[in-house]
Amino acid sequence: MFKRGLVYGVQNAALQTLTMKFVRFIMKNAALTNMPKHVEYYAKFSPSPLSMKQFIDFGSTNACEKTSFVFLRQELPVRLSNIMKEINLLPNRLLTTPSVQMVQTWYIQSLMDILEFLDKNPDDQSILGEFVDTLVKIRNRHNDVVPTMAQGIVEYKETFSQDSVTNQNIQYFLDRFYMSRISIRMLINQHTLVFDGATNPLHPNTIGSIDPHCEVTKVVKDAYQSAKMLCDKYYLSSPELMLQELNSKQKKKQPIDIVYVPSHLYHMLFELFKNAMRATIEHHETSNSLPPIQVIVAIGGEDMSIKVSDRGGGVPFRRTETLFSYMYSTAPTPQIGEDTPTPFAGFGYGLPISRLYAKYFQGDLQLYSMQGHGSDAVIHLKALSRDSVERLPVYNKTALRNYKVSQEADDWCMPSKEPLDLASYRVAK
Ligand code: ATP
Ligand code: MG
Repeated sequence: MFKRGLVYGVQNAALQTLTMKFVRFIMKNAALTNMPKHVEYYAKFSPSPLSMKQFIDFGSTNACEKTSFVFLRQELPVRLSNIMKEINLLPNRLLTTPSVQMVQTWYIQSLMDILEFLDKNPDDQSILGEFVDTLVKIRNRHNDVVPTMAQGIVEYKETFSQDSVTNQNIQYFLDRFYMSRISIRMLINQHTLVFDGATNPLHPNTIGSIDPHCEVTKVVKDAYQSAKMLCDKYYLSSPELMLQELNSKQKKKQPIDIVYVPSHLYHMLFELFKNAMRATIEHHETSNSLPPIQVIVAIGGEDMSIKVSDRGGGVPFRRTETLFSYMYSTAPTPQIGEDTPTPFAGFGYGLPISRLYAKYFQGDLQLYSMQGHGSDAVIHLKALSRDSVERLPVYNKTALRNYKVSQEADDWCMPSKEPLDLASYRVAK
């Protein structure tokens, strides 16, 4: 009897699990069929860019978790849906690669997770807690978006021949896609850091991920040290740092500070230092000493700029824009694996992603090179927090038109590769 009961129990449990799986499958598919409807609906709204001041107000002493929750449950679906419309415009053969499909599923799942909160009561503290947990789950789910999307592009490029228009479209898409991702993570980070109730013991004065007094040279030194450690490991030496600060606006002799996200600034500087170090070492392979990397930090009424100058031989002027192409790299392709050490260079994402971080708060990153001598990489950021406003992609007719560009004849003559025989040349009338 007991045995039979157990068997039935097991069978019942198995049946129950199967039924639950089936119900979940039906529900998931029903939700997925509804998905285009939600995406269509939310993509009709334009994302609302926040200013640094708004970020700080959301997170300062009068921070209101309820206001932030109500804002995010509308704004996150808008940002996700706007970019999901653009993912759908990718060439079909890229869209259907397993990697891009995977990324798309993550976006759909995250959109669904947030939509669950639409009819929830913002006055209920437990709902606010669940929302923070959901945001953390979403952030973790999207951790590998960059390498996964990159993998999709590699698969596509390896299988299909490339034309310049497709390359241009992919570059256009990735700039917007990664910018959207930076902005979504910024919103999630701010909410989860500000409302998890704990202060950051290392940086007690930060508001979420924003430092209202971000000392620029401190971040420069930190980023230099990390790049130097990596460089010493790979090349067994590294160039020195020469740092100069020109504070013409704030009180002289005081370190330059701005309201900024230190982790974003660190990311850009770390990438620029790695590039400058690699160029310097490879260009001076045969000499006994290495010229230093010179950094100037300057602030004026409008801009705060950081120039990183190396004497690494530079790049041809013609190549300047190519350096910002995703996956353009002159370093050997790095091995990826759990046991392989962090590579020094080679993904070709350093410059393009750093430029996005600079542009995110209305800045820019430019590279000026003098072939035969070296390069100056300059980060321009806004000196005043009121000018630092998010720069966000919006899906509209102009964006759509950009994906529909077709290959047309150039309106400038292409120089002939063959030498022209002028003696036998007749102009046709
Ligand atoms: P990673 O993604 O690991 O940074 P990477 O360094 O190759 O790889 P980018 O930082 O985007 O990618 O740089 C692209 C290419 O631009 C480099 O491979 C290098 O050829 C060139 N480059 C960048 N900075 C410099 C520099 N300061 N001097 C000379 N060449 C440079
Ligand atoms: Mg690099």
